[in-house]
Formats: sequence, structure tokens, C-alpha cells
Amino acid sequence: MRVAQQLFNITFNECIPLDCIVELTSKCNLDCIHCYVVKSCDTLPTDFWKSVFLELRDIGCLYLTLTGGEIFLRNDIFEVISFARNLGFCVTLFTNGTLLDEEKIKTLKKLNIYELHISLYSLNEEEHNSVTGDKRSFRKTMKAIHLAVKNKLPLVIKTPLLKSNFPNYKGIVKFAKRLGVRYILDPLITPKSNHDLAPQKYRISVDNLIKFYSDGEIFVKEYLKANNNKENFICSAGRNLISISSNGLVYPCLQFPVVLGDLKKSKLKDILSDKNNLIRKLRNIQPERDFYYCYKMCSYREFCLRCIGIVYLENRSIYSSTSSCCQLARVRKEVYYKKKKGALPWETIYA
Ligand code: SF4
Ligand code: SF4
Repeated sequence: MRVAQQLFNITFNECIPLDCIVELTSKCNLDCIHCYVVKSCDTLPTDFWKSVFLELRDIGCLYLTLTGGEIFLRNDIFEVISFARNLGFCVTLFTNGTLLDEEKIKTLKKLNIYELHISLYSLNEEEHNSVTGDKRSFRKTMKAIHLAVKNKLPLVIKTPLLKSNFPNYKGIVKFAKRLGVRYILDPLITPKSNHDLAPQKYRISVDNLIKFYSDGEIFVKEYLKANNNKENFICSAGRNLISISSNGLVYPCLQFPVVLGDLKKSKLKDILSDKNNLIRKLRNIQPERDFYYCYKMCSYREFCLRCIGIVYLENRSIYSSTSSCCQLARVRKEVYYKKKKGALPWETIYA
């Protein structure tokens, strides 16, 4: 077994937060139509984050992802990244790229970050800008992408798939390949963290989901993810993954905004201790008991990437099924049978 997998398994079983996603600010200079972040003016000071990073290091965290809002709106961002790197964290940054110039890119290079994820919605300027709501964003983002490539930063181009950009997603794949960088295409648009379902109206249609998962390259990747074991529905959230919001609240995952505690009032190790009722409840989930329908009754289960966070955001409960996950699972099953077996296992799947 690979070392990374072993590390994952140990921390998962021992509930050590190997991964932490930190939302350094909810402020953003763009206004993307599908964004899940609820904006507020809650930027905590540098020293707060430094002490949180020290706590994270002491309880075994290794991978730190810094996200926003837009993290480069913070004046202290390089001090924060540098502090995290000096503590030995593998640091990944999520950004829209619009505030990055050559000097900043060179500084990031020196800081030896693990990955830089830049969101790009289209290679068509107008289409990209119509998602971000800023007419100058495409040029700035493209400039950052080219600077990152020129300076050999570990760049990842990230593209949420929306109704508007879906027809042209293959262009982004070709572009990323030409640049020799990793890309992520994500068809799952989540509700806002306050349960507002508005972003979901931008989701691609079922027909386009089928086209997407049937795409040769995507199919291979996605097929590998389908699984049918018991652990299927027990994810890392609250076990070896946690997330911290820009106002210091601790969540099991950024996609699962149940408040476990407040770092302005409590220590992280106390928030994550088994004495915390919520943490205990989360870690004691038994799929066959708690997700009875999904686990015992559903014929799509082995194709389902059921996300407890999305279930919670859509239903305000973690126990039911949820339309987004069900729809994806159906599509994945259909594509699987068409590709692997040459026929559908049922006559009409959407009846
Ligand atoms: S399945 Fe959902 S809640 Fe669990 S770690 Fe993944 S995104 Fe977070
Ligand atoms: S497809 Fe829907 S009902 Fe089936 S396991 Fe997934 S979330 Fe549950």
C-alpha cells in the first residue's frame, strides 16, 4: 500500500485531522453566479490564524488548503502562507487569480507551495466574465495562469461546469493539456452555506451530465470512483478532514457547515474531542442504521458518491437521500452500463 494511502487510513481511523481547509476571508473581488460562500466582513487578524496553525500542527495536520472568498485580498496573505510553510504544512491555495502579478507568483514559487488552484470558467472571454460578473476578470485570470506556467508553479485549472460553459468544456481540457497542467472539471454545484439553493439553477442538465460522464477521459476517472463497500457513505468530514470558516467556526468539511465549535472561544483539540456531542455523533455514524434507505434499499448505491454535506445543505438533515447525489448516481450507472455492457440495465431510468 502506498505511504499516502497508509497515512490516510491511519488518520481516518484515529480521527486525526490530516487535512484542514481554512477560509481566510469570505470577501471576494468577483461575484460568481454559482458561488456557495455567504459574504460577510469577518476577516480575523494574522495572529489568530498563526495560533490556529500552531494548534493544527500540534494535533497532526499536514495538508492545509487556504481558500476564500479571495485570499489575495488579505494584505497579510504572504505572511500567513510563509508561516504555514515554516511549520511544515503542504499548502494548497484556491484563488481566482485576478490579483496575482509576476512578483507575487515568484514569491509563491519561493514558498514552494503544494498546488495553486485557479478557477477558469471558459476560454471565451465574454462567457468567463458573465460567470464572474467582472468584465476584466478573464484577462487577469489568464495572465495569472500563464505566469504560473512560466514560473513552473504546480498549477491546477479548476472549472465548475455550469449551463453556460458546458458546451465549451473540452476547450479547457485541451488548453490545460497544452500547458501541461492538471485540471479539475466539477459538475456538482452546491447550495450556499446558508442552505440557499439558488446556485443549483446553474447546474447542467441530465443529458449533459450523461455526455460529460460518457466522455472517454472523464469516464475512466469516474468509473474508478464508484464503489460498493460499507465505508461508501462515511467520508473524511470530521474524521481526518476539518474546515475552519473566516469567522473562526470549525466545520467537519467546507461542504458540511455544521458548527462543531468556535476557535475564538475554545481550543481546537477540545472542539475535536469525543466529549463534543456533535463530533461523537458524526464519528459514530453507521450507514446500515443511519442511512438505511441509501445503504439497504437503493439500487444506485454502488455508483453514488453520497456527500453528507450536500445532503445536509439540501435537507437540513444528514440521514435522507438528496436529489443532486441521486441524479449523479443514476447518470453514472447509466453511463457505466452503456460503456461496459453495451445496454442499460433497465428500460427507462428517469420514469
Ligand atoms: S463527501 Fe462531502 S462532506 Fe464528506 S468530505 Fe467529501 S465534500 Fe466533505
Ligand atoms: S442514489 Fe440517492 S438514494 Fe441512492 S444511495 Fe445515493 S443518495 Fe441514497
